[in-house]
Amino acid sequence: MILGHAQEEVVEAITQAAARGTSYGAPTEAESRLAEQIIEAVPSIEKVRLVNSGTEATMSALRVARGATGRNKVIKFSGNYHGHVDSLLVAAGSAAATLGAPDSPGVTPGAAADTIVLSYNDVSGLQNAFAQQGDEIAAVILEPVVGNMGCVVPTMEFLQTMRDLTSQHGSILIFDEVMTGFRVAFGGAQERFGITPDMTTLGKIVGGGMPLGAYGGRKDIMDQVLPAGKVFQAGTLSGNPVAVAAGSTTLDILKKSPPYEALEKMGERLAAGLSSAASDAGIPHTVARVGSMMTLFFNPDPVTCWDQADRCDRDAFGRYFWGLIGEGVYMPCSQFEALFFSRLHDEAIIDETIDAARKTLAAF
Ligand SMILES: *Cc1c(COP(=O)(O)O)cnc(C)c1O
Repeated sequence: MILGHAQEEVVEAITQAAARGTSYGAPTEAESRLAEQIIEAVPSIEKVRLVNSGTEATMSALRVARGATGRNKVIKFSGNYHGHVDSLLVAAGSAAATLGAPDSPGVTPGAAADTIVLSYNDVSGLQNAFAQQGDEIAAVILEPVVGNMGCVVPTMEFLQTMRDLTSQHGSILIFDEVMTGFRVAFGGAQERFGITPDMTTLGKIVGGGMPLGAYGGRKDIMDQVLPAGKVFQAGTLSGNPVAVAAGSTTLDILKKSPPYEALEKMGERLAAGLSSAASDAGIPHTVARVGSMMTLFFNPDPVTCWDQADRCDRDAFGRYFWGLIGEGVYMPCSQFEALFFSRLHDEAIIDETIDAARKTLAAF
């Protein structure tokens, strides 16, 4: 909720849309307009489809990538979460990790058999996988800044290698920007890092708090989707007018008055404050941040992949979380979920948060 909860203009747009009708099972002008806004904002997207959630977006993007390449295998990175898509529920980050169940009951071995799991930021792992089976790989999907094993930042070498290898081997590079889209920059991580994937998935901010996701990319790839192509994807409620109104209005506001510089400043302030609170309390920690996404890891070393995240002191996080609740601050309830804040979190609120953390950590 980058604009905060119950933002007036968004609520107004939702109300007006609902009064006109909540679902037509047919495209609307408002849906086309949101599509245009997305295409204008996100560098990789020439054509886009609206769906109802981030999960649907990644599920559909994978199907299109496989349909377009005629290949089966997909590379994902451990600790990255892409929604509850069967084939991607392996080594899947936050909720799965917190509950100690990286793989879910109900996912068949077959569903996950074509998923290759690599370590995030591992350039040579990526090179080896492509050297061995590059011509079978339909797609590489990743969180271009990870939010689902805590905030983990990619190296430019990792992103660039991935871009080069996928291009060389005719594989489709999918940035899952469900969390980073309109968050780390208006055009997402791809704008921030200057690396353009072939396809992009969106959710969260793009729906302005309503159930809406989107997937899109290069025109020739998206033209594989029915009715232009043969890859099936549909949805009765996809692009429904109420969700579209919330998303469209949110993007209008973000474009008209971009909050990103302010979010960067507040992010810097919060990261520095949390880190100094932990240092003063003598607690081993590291803070990772990109813009308004960040995590205080109870881990002395930098966290660049899941194996390192997994070494965090979960009990310490638990004490930190409940201590902050006692101080009236609700942080994400897992060490493996990035914190993000809205444009309404001003200096006073950020400082209050730091004070609460300082109190909590000093009492450890
Ligand atoms: C939240 C999230 C999803 C899933 O989106 P839902 O709307 O919860 O289905 C997918 N990918 C990433 C990176 C996410 O953070």
